[in-house]
Amino acid sequence: MIFLVGTRESNMKNGSILNEKCPNCGAQDDLYFSIYKRYTHITLFPLFPVGKSVYIKCSQCNKNFDYEDLSEIAQLQLRNEKLDNSLWMFSGSIIIALFLIFTIYSYFEKKDEAGILIKNPIQGDVYNLKLNNGYYSNMRIDKITTDSVYATLNDFDAYMPNEIDDLNKPENYSNRKVSYSRKDLIKLYQENQILKITQKNVNGFSN
Ligand SMILES: [Zn+2]
Repeated sequence: MIFLVGTRESNMKNGSILNEKCPNCGAQDDLYFSIYKRYTHITLFPLFPVGKSVYIKCSQCNKNFDYEDLSEIAQLQLRNEKLDNSLWMFSGSIIIALFLIFTIYSYFEKKDEAGILIKNPIQGDVYNLKLNNGYYSNMRIDKITTDSVYATLNDFDAYMPNEIDDLNKPENYSNRKVSYSRKDLIKLYQENQILKITQKNVNGFSN
């Protein structure tokens, strides 16, 4: 996906400037204004407003004017124009913020879940591991006794944590047997070497 960042303008209000003569042709009450708000956007999503611009045109002589060309009273009138709230210009920022909150929330929820599952290993559990050599892999729990846990390490390693789940195929667990005391297993978890635990058939669903 390509992200396009830039600014766009949105028309907020149009109207006429009262009691003001055209600086060019002198026509009374014929100056019209358009106020635009500028906002930054990323692809289609507005992020936040960054400023305002105003366009002024005489309907008699069709000439355009700048804000500075007007009398102070007319400038004040424009400054006091009430604009609709433009909360929608923050919609992209709100989406990004919600996405971040959700990601952080699910990270801690997953971590929480692993913290419970680690204390009660079940045959078939798959542990996603951060290895000492910097790679990632997983192991499948084969057998649990009162004080030890026996597992088979995956034959393959992954470079990135998000690739670990793809390694989890039955044929990838062959003969790299490992065992831990239950205490050491919890220690691995506390040292953040166990990233995720997938338990089959939790609440009847395959997870
Ligand atoms: Zn004019």
